[in-house]
Amino acid sequence: MLEARKIRLVMELRQQGITDQAVLSAIEKVPREAFVPESFHDQAYENTALPIGHGQTISQPSVVGFMTQALEIGPRMKILEVGTGCGYQAAVLAGLCRRVYSIERFRELLREAEKRLLDLRVNNVTTKWGDGASGWPEQAPFDRMILTAAATEVPQELLDQMSENGIIIAPVGETSREQTLIRMRHMPDNTWEKEELWPVRFVPMLDGKVGDNSEQ
Ligand code: SAH
Repeated sequence: MLEARKIRLVMELRQQGITDQAVLSAIEKVPREAFVPESFHDQAYENTALPIGHGQTISQPSVVGFMTQALEIGPRMKILEVGTGCGYQAAVLAGLCRRVYSIERFRELLREAEKRLLDLRVNNVTTKWGDGASGWPEQAPFDRMILTAAATEVPQELLDQMSENGIIIAPVGETSREQTLIRMRHMPDNTWEKEELWPVRFVPMLDGKVGDNSEQ
């Protein structure tokens, strides 16, 4: 039942313009139902965002597909994701690159995402509880970066952690309203080429970490 819905969703994504076969197969390999609360299992393969708790959402499959395709991922790349959420986007990226580093500010969401990735034997995602705006300097430079929460601009600290020819995909704009998905390419002369891709709507990127007091 879910398998048939998944195949239908993948066909729909292809029709919408996600034509990169590697991206489509990476999506097909990840069971999205494992990333949503049980009560939403039957909607796991609808092309919609769904709630995952703490006021956060799992991104819409077409958004995950378009962002992943726009990243132009190669198999040896290191990718940084800001905003692990339920871990779904990280699992899709993991099927296409060498290693994903993913940061989440909600301790509880991160724990749940880590458990899912472990259960699914996705073993090339490394996670961290923290403020993604500071990136992960110990693991830099990154070949690709994806922000899954919206900021007014991409923080300089993140730009500084990108390798030459690196690509960043990020929703940028006035946080609560519609944002624009942008793609930034790090040029050999250390400048950034910026393209506006399409309008999107993401939850805002927020400061600081949230978790048990005992752990802060
Ligand atoms: N990537 C997810 C979608 C995540 S929604 C998916 O695969 O579906 C955005 C996530 O970004 C939320 O979980 C939110 O808690 C997190 N977030 C917001 N601001 C952040 C910050 N400064 N650092 C790290 N994570 C942040």
